[in-house]
This record gives sequence, C-alpha cells and structure tokens, in this order.
Amino acid sequence: MRVTLAIEQDTAVIESMLSDYARWDDTVAFIQGNKADYLTSNFTGESVANLHVTSVVITKLDATPILKLTLSSEGTIGDMSADMLNTLTPYFKHISQLAIKEKLTSVLWLNNKPFLMVASPVTDTARKQTASGYMYALRRLDDQYIKRIQKTASIPFTLQPAVARIKQMVIVKQSEENSVKRWTASASLTNLPAEIIVGGPTRLLNERRITYWTLAGIAASLVAFSLVGIYLILNRRILRRLHEFSQLADRHRIDKDSSIRWPIQGKDELDNLSTSLNDLMAEVNARHQDLNFLAEHDPLTGIGNRRQLHNRLEAVQNRSRRQPSLASSLLLLDLDGFKLINDGLGHSVGDKVLQIIANRLLTLSRNYDTVARLGGDEATTHLGGSKTVTRLGGDEFAVLLEDTTPPHATLYAERLLRTLEQPIELEGQNLIIRGSIGITPAEASLTKEEIVRNADLAMYEAKRRGKGQIVMFSVGLLDKAHRRMQLEQALQHAMNSNLLEVWYQPIIAPHSGGVVGMEALSRWTFNENYIPPDEFIGIAETSGMIVQLGRFVLDQAGAALKDLRAEYPNLQCSVNLSVRQFRDTDLVADISACLHKHNLPADALKLELTESMLAEHEEDLLATMLNIVKLGCKFYLDDFGTGYSSLDRLRRFPIEVLKIDRSFVTPLGNGDDVMVRNIINIGHELGMKLIAEGVETETELSRLTELGCIQFQGYYFAKPMPLEDLRIWLASQ
Ligand code: C2E
Ligand code: CA
Ligand code: CA
Repeated sequence: MRVTLAIEQDTAVIESMLSDYARWDDTVAFIQGNKADYLTSNFTGESVANLHVTSVVITKLDATPILKLTLSSEGTIGDMSADMLNTLTPYFKHISQLAIKEKLTSVLWLNNKPFLMVASPVTDTARKQTASGYMYALRRLDDQYIKRIQKTASIPFTLQPAVARIKQMVIVKQSEENSVKRWTASASLTNLPAEIIVGGPTRLLNERRITYWTLAGIAASLVAFSLVGIYLILNRRILRRLHEFSQLADRHRIDKDSSIRWPIQGKDELDNLSTSLNDLMAEVNARHQDLNFLAEHDPLTGIGNRRQLHNRLEAVQNRSRRQPSLASSLLLLDLDGFKLINDGLGHSVGDKVLQIIANRLLTLSRNYDTVARLGGDEATTHLGGSKTVTRLGGDEFAVLLEDTTPPHATLYAERLLRTLEQPIELEGQNLIIRGSIGITPAEASLTKEEIVRNADLAMYEAKRRGKGQIVMFSVGLLDKAHRRMQLEQALQHAMNSNLLEVWYQPIIAPHSGGVVGMEALSRWTFNENYIPPDEFIGIAETSGMIVQLGRFVLDQAGAALKDLRAEYPNLQCSVNLSVRQFRDTDLVADISACLHKHNLPADALKLELTESMLAEHEEDLLATMLNIVKLGCKFYLDDFGTGYSSLDRLRRFPIEVLKIDRSFVTPLGNGDDVMVRNIINIGHELGMKLIAEGVETETELSRLTELGCIQFQGYYFAKPMPLEDLRIWLASQ
C-alpha cells in the first residue's frame, strides 16, 4: 500500500502537470501548427525534470506524433529514440481509437522496462472545443526511481508486469536466509498493469519488531515490578516473620532458652500461630517447673532431696572457689532407732515423725540453708564396704549450712539434737527422738560425693560411739574407712582360703559339776596382726559375709563338739548369731544340717543373740527362733542389760539363759552390785538361768555366787583358746 501510494503520488503530480498542458490554448495552437516556439519556450531540460517526467509526446488526432522529446540522463532535451517511438506508436493509435475524453494513466512495459504514462486529450483552456490531439507524459520507472520509492516507502520491492489482477497483498513466501527473515509478497498497482513484488523484511517490520520487543520489555518490567512488589509485601508480611519465627525456634532448640516468646503483630494466621506457640511454651515451662520441683524435693516432707543437696553443694563450692573465705558446712543427721518406731507403731506414724522432724529442721535453719531428706529408697555406697547399704527407713537428713564454719555448725548440731529430743505426741504416745550427727566442711577442693561421704563417715562414727553423738569429720575417719575396705577384701580372701579360726572359751559351774560347755569365738590374724572380732564381725555383717562366716563357725563348733563329746558327753557349745543369718539365709536348715552332719543332739548346741538384736529386729527373728527351738536348740541372750528390753518382750522370746554383760560384772570389784542384783532378779523372775561373763577376779566370782549366779565365763577360769589347747585344758580339770 505504501509503494502504491508513493507511485500514485507521483502519478498525481504528472497527471496535474499534464492537465495544465493538455488543456491549454497554446497546445491546441501548437497542434494546429500555429505555435512554432511552443517546444522551445515550454520544454527545457530543467523544466521537464521539474515536471518529474522523462518523455513528452504530442500527437494529432490520428496519432501522428508532432512532438516527441526525451530527457537524457545528462539532463538535456532530445528527440525520442526511433526505437522507443516505434514501440509506442501502436499505443498512440489505440488511444486515438478510444478517443478518450479524460486523462488515462497506465504502466507500460517497453522492452520489459516499466514506464508510467499519462495520456490526455488536448483541448482549449476553456474546454469548449473537442479534442484536437493527444498529449502523453512518460516517466521511466528506472532503478534510480525504484530506489527512491523504496527509500520513501521503506520497502524493498520490484515492479513486474501484471500477471493477474491481485487485489490484496499476499504473502507468497517466507524464507530464511542468513537467519534474516525474508518475505515475498505481491500486490497489484491500483488499476495499472503492474505488480509490486515486495521482497525481504520491510523496515517497518524491524520497527514492528522493535515495538514488539519494547512492548515485551515493558510487559516484562511490569511483571518484574509486580513480582518485586509482591515479594516486598510477602517479605514484610510473611517471609520476614517466618524467618524470625524460625530463628526463635532455633534459639529455643539450641540454647534451650525457655523465655522465648513469638512476636504478635495483629490478628492474622501467623499471629494465631504465635499465640499458640507462646501458650504452649508457657505450659511447658509450668510443667518444667513442676517437674523440677518434684525432681528436687522429697514428696513426703516437702523439703529437698539428695539431688537438691547435690546441686546446692555444687553451687556453694563454685562460690567458695571464687571467694575462698566463705566456709560452708554439711551436716548429716541419722535418727537413732527410727526402725523401732516404724516397725512398732506402723509406717504412717513413722511418716508423721519424719514430717515433724523435717519441720523442726526447717524452723531451725536459715532461709539460705538447704534442708534435705536423703530418701530411703536411695542406695548409698560406703567407702568402708563394696556393698551398698540401703537405708530403708529414709531417716537420714542433711543440712547444708552456708557461710558457717565447722565450729559454728557444731553449735547448730547441738541445738538440733536438743530440739529433736522434745517429745512428739502421736497416737497417744510420747516419742522421744534422738539422732547421730556427722559434720564436715564443704571444701571446694573435693567433689560433692566426697563431701557427702565425709559427712556420712562422721555420722557413722557418731552412731558407733553411741546414740545422740556429734562427730566432726577428720582424716582419721577416712583412714579408718580405708582400713575397713582393705580388711573387707582381706576377710573375704581369708574366708575363701580357710584362714579363719575358731577358738573356744569354757563356761564353768564350779559348784555343780565344773565345765558346762564353751563359747565358740572367731579368730583372724591378718598380716600377723590379731584383728579383734568386734572389728571384723562388724565388717562381715555390713558386707553380708557374716552368712558364710556363721556357717563356718557352726560347722567348726559342730565338729569340735562331736570330737570332744566322745570324752565329755554332756559338753555344750554356744555359737554367736547375727541378724543377717536370720534374714539372708535359711538358718533352720543350716542348723539342722549341722546337727545331722556331726550327729549331735540338738541340746548340745546353744545359740547366742545380743539383746540389741532382739530390740531392733523383733519381727525378723521371732518366727525363725521358734522353728529353731522346735529342732531342740536353746537360745542364750548375750550382753544382757545393755539393751532396752522390756520384761514383756523378753517373755515373748524362747530364751533359756541370760548372759550378764561384763560391764556389770567389773564394778563388783568396787562393791557396786546394784545392776547385777537387778539383772539376776529379772532372770529369776523370768525363770531363766544366768551366766556371768567377763569374770576376772576371785572377788567378782564370790560376789556373783553370793547373789545366786552359778555359771561363769571369764579370764579368771580360762581365756578363749584353740581346740588343741582346749583339749589339754579340759584334761587338766
Ligand atoms: P561376746 O559374744 O560377748 O563374747 C565374749 C567376749 O568377751 C569375747 O571377746 C571374749 O574374749 C571376751 N571375754 C571373755 N571373758 C573375758 C574376761 O574375763 N575379760 C575380758 N576383758 N574379756 C573377756 P571376743 O572374742 O573379742 O569377741 C567379741 C565379740 O565378737 C563377741 O562378744 C561376739 O559378740 C562377737 N563374736 C565373736 N565371734 C563371733 C562369731 O563367730 N559370730 C558372731 N556373730 N559374733 C562373734
Ligand atoms: Ca557371745
Ligand atoms: Ca557377751
């Protein structure tokens, strides 16, 4: 369309120029031969060029050319070539025959070269006359012309003779050459027998492409802008907050920071999530506090437990590491005879007693002191024994006194014992509680386990020394504990290797038949040192070895009896028993096995129990004792007078003989016979026989005899001795 327009524009220019010349009296006059200077005065090279034509022809009505000029390439006017004129002549004739009344425009193909040609009848200026001839204006559509139009229209094209009248532009071909898109299209030049063949992309196409690209660019930028916008909004409203959420979650996970709260900005879903998380957090914290409280407190008394004590100890130690002048003390209290209360009055009374004592401890200590009950279900390992000692009563308390030196702690402990001793009224009974206390400085250089152990050692020493004592820890106790540990191992070895011995001490009734029998006593020499039974029997009891030791003594005594009874048929032997032999083994079976093995009558064997055993373990003992009595064996009550047995209790037990403890016999030398008299009276009242122990002098013997005692055991008669020596001793009597 643009090429057509450009050519039509040129056509219009030529047409209007031609109308000027063809409707002009001068031209009519020229055709009629009256205007000789017509050519020269009107057509110079310059004027023709200005008319945008290359040739001008004027013919008469019969098509005879009378003017036929051509503009040369140099710009001068000359005659049209004969060749061209000949070619045009048929066309002139055709026009004459048509006798056109108006102008007629056409594209002519002369020797395959296109010319634009406008024909017009020549009339006078007023257009009153009929046509007197024809005038033609031609324009060569040469390469130069085509190039100019190509430039103006911005379209690469060529002209071609019309093959068919194609009305519309048709894209004929689209090919790709050097990756440039080429189009070939054709269109007919309006009403003219020529076609425009458009080849290759138009500049317009480029512009379109640029436009498209620009549009695409703008669209892309718009999209990018919106994306950035959306991102910014998302970021501000969601992503940044999610990031913050996640960071807080990390902090909670890694630092275990339970104070974290998730931020709340408004009322959206994330805020909802925050609220839920915060609620959850608060609940977890609350539960945590509950758990922490439970973990650090004794459920029965509400005071701290072992864990709390350990934690506080650690804190105190850390502090005194920074400030070495701050001394703190740990105090351990164990109730004396608490088991009696538990067994005798029931566990609920025991629990109440523990609660009351916990309260007394609390009132007596300052806010920053730690008061704890060391649970009965917890096991404590003692340095003195590889075995763990489980305190079922849970009657052990600890007080961590901060900024208190050991001497001040001792004052506190004395006050504590006095407070404890105030009677507790429960179930109609007035209970008086006593305790044993061990104290140790909470030194920063020790581990907390070592501190507790030291306090424990001091407390055990207090127990050992008797009830209601306070003992300050000293390195000596640790040495003692070490010795205990060493002895325990050695004792086990001695037992396994048969290094223990049994010695015998005679029991004599001087006025009624002489030697009655003997008591079997264990003897152990370790590293050539005599270890007194009081020491190693205690170790054997706490470690449980006493069961094995007891069986050994029983078997030795049985063998000795069998041997000696061949010569002294009525000889008896008594054997000492421990509580654990009742609890940890089938004592009835052991005893009857011994009697069978050595073929002994049951009354040859006597079994000694201490009074304190009866007092503390009544329930454990009674049933088994009755079964043993059924076998035919009799019981002796050892160390009588040192325990707290009531007559009622004594009556309940199957006891044949009371052994008066040496501590009551010795004072007889000074004339002090109060206790012995009482004991002998009790024995007689209960219908029990009596043996006086530890008789060392003539005086003691005669006084005891006066008071009605007839059987004796003591150095005055004989010391404990090995079986061989006993045999000799017996023979010498
Ligand atoms: P116990 O059953 O009271 O034994 C009597 C203790 O008094 C013996 O001490 C004996 O040597 C000592 N003794 C006897 N007469 C006199 C005297 O005139 N003067 C003095 N100063 N002491 C006298 P030992 O042998 O050292 O035994 C101490 C305790 O060890 C015994 O006291 C007994 O409770 C315990 N024991 C000894 N052997 C065994 C045993 O095989 N099994 C058990 N469970 N305990 C044993
Ligand atoms: Ca004894
Ligand atoms: Ca005794």
